Amino acid sequence: MTIPVLGSIKDLRAQVSDWRNRGLGIALVPTMGALHAGHLDLVRRASEKADCVVVSIFVNPTQFAPTEDFGRYPRNLERDYVALKDTPASAIYAPTADEMYGEGFASKVFVEGPAEGLESVARPHFFAGVATVVSKLFIQCMPDVAIFGEKDYQQLQVIRRMTRDLDLAVEIVGAPTMREADGLALSSRNAYLSPEERATAPRLHAVLDALAHAVAKGEPVAAATTRAKDELTAAGFAIDYIEVRNADTLRPVGDAATEPMRVLAAAKLGATRLIDNLAVPT
Ligand code: AMP
Repeated sequence: MTIPVLGSIKDLRAQVSDWRNRGLGIALVPTMGALHAGHLDLVRRASEKADCVVVSIFVNPTQFAPTEDFGRYPRNLERDYVALKDTPASAIYAPTADEMYGEGFASKVFVEGPAEGLESVARPHFFAGVATVVSKLFIQCMPDVAIFGEKDYQQLQVIRRMTRDLDLAVEIVGAPTMREADGLALSSRNAYLSPEERATAPRLHAVLDALAHAVAKGEPVAAATTRAKDELTAAGFAIDYIEVRNADTLRPVGDAATEPMRVLAAAKLGATRLIDNLAVPT
């Protein structure tokens, strides 16, 4: 079976209206390509939610700062196409940057609340880029449902907030993080790690897991977080943040919090920035 690869908004809309005329439901899985098993799991989950699954592949320039890895971000549409052939993907939507951001483009979607702090400290333009491109993808595709990974937990909460606030008629579904056997979250950026960094990288998950369990057992948040920071620093990570937040609003929590909580972290190993997060068990 060949999967149609759609490069323009016009072609995407023609495909979507053909499905709609046949009474079919549509799920969207937004990605930046360099697909791994985590992305493919989102496609499988999407197919359980709707008849047709659109996988978008677009390395979105507006969510990268000039100092970040936009230029060297892995791109290989042919490999992604082969990977998607073994999944229930119905169409690939791979627009060019010119198609997405036409001449004179001058509009942006800004989200407050869950977009504040955490990733936004090191990447102040990131969520405006994400919110703008995801709202454009929703308007271009008009899906019934869209699937996002908990791997990017703050992004998931920002998209949930934006979708509610703008009355977008899309159901947002979060999917659990797929990991290597040693706990490292699958990420397209893992390819940047040297063999030594790759051997150290699973410590991030291990330390977050210990932190989540310590908080669950009632250890004060501040003390448990400081210990986690010290452990990661000793292992060779340069920490951007490691925090315990409210799992829905992402507001900071007090020392003896009883609300649903999430531990979130970003840290660099050499030049590679890794992010991960876990639920505090209840
Ligand atoms: P990206 O291509 O990295 O922007 O990711 C596209 C989608 O895949 C986002 O919703 C991510 O949260 C999700 N994703 C990335 N890594 C994983 C993973 N290890 N497990 C599950 N979903 C993931």
